[in-house]
Amino acid sequence: MDSLLNLLGDEKNSGFASLNLIKYVNIGAMKSLVLSDIHANATALEAVLEDAGNFDATWVLGDLVGYGPDPNECIEQVKNLPNLVCLLGNHDAATLGQINDIAFNPAARQAVRWTRQNIASENLEYLRQLPESIRSGEITFAHGSPREPVWEYLLDTRNATENFDFFYTPFCFVGHTHLPTIYYMTNGASFARLISPPNDTVMPLQPRSIINPGSVGQPRDHDPRAAYAVVDLDDMTIEFRRVIYDIQAVQERMRRDNFPARHIQRLIEGW
Ligand code: ZN
Repeated sequence: MDSLLNLLGDEKNSGFASLNLIKYVNIGAMKSLVLSDIHANATALEAVLEDAGNFDATWVLGDLVGYGPDPNECIEQVKNLPNLVCLLGNHDAATLGQINDIAFNPAARQAVRWTRQNIASENLEYLRQLPESIRSGEITFAHGSPREPVWEYLLDTRNATENFDFFYTPFCFVGHTHLPTIYYMTNGASFARLISPPNDTVMPLQPRSIINPGSVGQPRDHDPRAAYAVVDLDDMTIEFRRVIYDIQAVQERMRRDNFPARHIQRLIEGW
C-alpha cells in the first residue's frame, strides 16, 4: 500500500515545491462534521454550525472562498473549528494565483478577482498552506477526486469507477460538484453505483465509497438549503443534512458589492 501511495507523490518528490500535495494526519475523533464548498457564504456556514450541535472534528473539503461575499469571515470561522482537516479547492487555488483564472467562466472569474482584492493577507496565507489531499487512517480527502484532487468533477459512475483505483482507503470524501452523493463499489464489482442519499437519515458507512456532502454555500441540486454531513466513526454511520439560512441577507451583500447577477440568483434557486 505504501509503495502505491508513493506513486501519488508528496511535497518532497512532486517537483511542485510550492504546493502541499498530500498531508498525513491523525483525526482520531468520533463525531465529525463534513463541510464542503462554503464559498464565502458566512450566513450558510453559521446556520450549519448552529444546526450541527456538538461535534469532535471538522473536515472541510475545499473551496472556502469564491462566489460569495464573506471570504474573511468564513476563513476565520473555519480556522477555529475543532480538530480541523481542511483542503485546498480550485477557487482557493485561483485566489492564490496558483492556477490561471482564465480556466473559469467570466462570472466565476469576476468573483475570483473580487476575492483577491478583498481577502486579508493573513487569510490568503491560511489558504496557501492548505494541502490538495489528506490521508488519515481509513479516509482519503480530496476536493474534486482522488485522481485529480483540485479539478476533476465526479459527475458519473464511469469517472467514479476509474477513481476507485486512485485511493487505497475504505472511504474517500470529496466536494467540488456541490451535489450530495455516494459512489459505492462492492468488493469485486466492476462498476460503482451512484446513490442519492436521503436527508436526515442515519446510514451505515459502507466500504468502499466516495462520499460528497454537498455544498454549504452554493447548493446545486435545486434545494437551496445549505448541505452538510455528520460522520460517526464510532458507529460507522453517516447522516446527510440540510438547513435553511437567510439567503436574502447574503444576496443583499452581493448586490452591494456588484456581484454577477447570475451568482446572486442561483443561491435562491439552488443551481
Ligand atoms: Zn466549489
